[in-house]
Amino acid sequence: MNNFKVDRTGSQRLVHLDLKGAPPRISYFEKILPFIKNIGATGILLEWEDTFPYTKDVIPIGSLSDHAQTSGAPYSMEEAKQILTIAAACDLIVIPLLQTFGHLEFVLKHENWRSLREVEEFPSSICPSKSGTIQLITSLLEQMIEFHPSIQYIHLGGDEVWHMGMCSICEKRIQTSQFGKSRLYLDHMSKIGHYVKENYPGLKIIVWDDMFRNIEVEILQEYPSCNFFELMIWNYLPSDSFHLNDGLWEKYNSVFSNLWIASAFKGATSSCQLIPVIKYHLSNHLAWLTELEKNSKKIGNLRGIALTGWSRFDHFATFCELLPCGIPSLCFCMATWISGGYSQDLEESVRKLLGSDCGTISYLESSTVCLPKTNPQPTFPGWQIFVGIEMLMNLRTRYKNLINSDQLQTWFNTWQVLNSFTNPMQIKSLLLVVIELLGEMSTVKEHLKKYMEEVFFNHTLEEFFGTLMVPVEHHLNQMKTDIERQLSLGGRAREHMNL
Ligand SMILES: [Zn+2]
Repeated sequence: MNNFKVDRTGSQRLVHLDLKGAPPRISYFEKILPFIKNIGATGILLEWEDTFPYTKDVIPIGSLSDHAQTSGAPYSMEEAKQILTIAAACDLIVIPLLQTFGHLEFVLKHENWRSLREVEEFPSSICPSKSGTIQLITSLLEQMIEFHPSIQYIHLGGDEVWHMGMCSICEKRIQTSQFGKSRLYLDHMSKIGHYVKENYPGLKIIVWDDMFRNIEVEILQEYPSCNFFELMIWNYLPSDSFHLNDGLWEKYNSVFSNLWIASAFKGATSSCQLIPVIKYHLSNHLAWLTELEKNSKKIGNLRGIALTGWSRFDHFATFCELLPCGIPSLCFCMATWISGGYSQDLEESVRKLLGSDCGTISYLESSTVCLPKTNPQPTFPGWQIFVGIEMLMNLRTRYKNLINSDQLQTWFNTWQVLNSFTNPMQIKSLLLVVIELLGEMSTVKEHLKKYMEEVFFNHTLEEFFGTLMVPVEHHLNQMKTDIERQLSLGGRAREHMNL
C-alpha cells in the first residue's frame, strides 16, 4: 500500500490518539507509530487531556499532579517527550489538541477552577465571561505549544459546548447582542485564536466545525479570526444516516481558506463498545468519499482527514474500544480512504497486513474460551488484547444470558433464596454453569492481564478490571455461595414468614 493517491481527499491523513482513556505505554508507541505510518498515516492528532505534564500553576490538571503521581497515571515529562521523538523518527507530523471551551471536565472538576464553570453543577463548559478564563486557557495553551517546538498546527477543540449563555453575565451578554449565542461562541474562540496568532505567528489553527454549522455566514465574515481558523468538519455516521447541512460547503468556503474533515474508526458507536463494528466505520469512510466526490467543485482547499478513535465519550465516561481493539478497523478504513473505495483486493491486502482474518471473523459464536486457531496468528501490535476482549465479550454475554434466564428466574430468584425454598435438582445444574463461567473468567483475566500490562499502565488495568470483570466475578461468587448453601439444605418445606 505505498501508492498513496493524493487527490481531492487532501494530502494529510491523521490518526487521532485520544489519550484521555487507556493511554498506552511508550513501548506501545514504539510499535504503533511505525505501524500507522506504514498503513499510510501522515501524522497524529494527539489529544493529551489530563495525561499532559502541565507544570506551575496548572500542575493539578495534568500527569504531574499529586494524584496522578500516586496512582501511577501517565505521562512523565520524559515519556511525553519520547512520544514526540518516536513520531518524528517515523516522519509523522504531530498536532496537539487542547479543548478551550467545552469538554473541559478534566479542568473544571478541580476545586481550583470550579468557579469558572458556566453552570455551577456541571463541569463541562467554561464561562467565557469570567475574568480567570482567558488566563487559564492561555496558560494551558502556552505550555502545550512550547512543549511541541516543531509543530505547524494546533487544534483548539471548541466542539459541543453544551452550556453556553447560562450564567448571569453570559445571559446578559446574549440578551444585549443581536446574534446571541453565536456571538458569545465566536468572541471566545476568536480571543483564543488571536492569542495564538500573536504569540505564535507561524502556527496554523484548527477548530471543530459543529458550533459553526448553524451560524450565518454574515456573522462569520465579521470575525477576522475566521480568516485563519481551519475548520475540521466531523461526521462519524455510516452511509444510510450520513448528512451534512445543505449549503455547508458553500458557506465554509466563502469564509475559511482551509478545511479538514474527520471520520471515525472507533469510539463513535456505543459509549461502552468493546470492539469496533468495522462495517459501520467503513461505511462512514465510504460516505465521506461519496460526499467529497459529489461536491468536488464546491470544496476549496482541503488539507486532509483525521481518522478519529475516541477512547471515552467524556472524561467521566467508562472506556469504549481500547486502541489495540481499533487497529483492524483503522487498517480497513485507512486502506479504503487511500484507495478511494473498498474492493476484494483491498480486503485481501488488509488481512495480510493484520496477519490474519481479524476484523472479519468473530470469535463470539464459540461457546468456550480458547485462543482462536487462525493460522497464521495476527501480527498487528496488541492483537492479543483484541482477542482477549473478544473472549471477554463472549463471557459477558453468557453471564447476562444466565442472569436473565428462565431457569434462574424460576428456580433461584431472590425471594426463593431469602426463604430457602429451592429445588436442588434445578439449582445443581445452575451451579455447574456458574463454576464454568468463573473458571473461564479467570483464564481470560490472566490472559488480558498479561498482555494489557505490556501495553497499558496499572492505572488503566485497575479501572478496566474493576469495571468489566470484578463485579461479574463478585456476583458469580455470591451465586456460587448461595447455591451451595441451598444445596446443603437439600429442599425444604416453605416456612411461614411473619409479614
Ligand atoms: Zn458565563
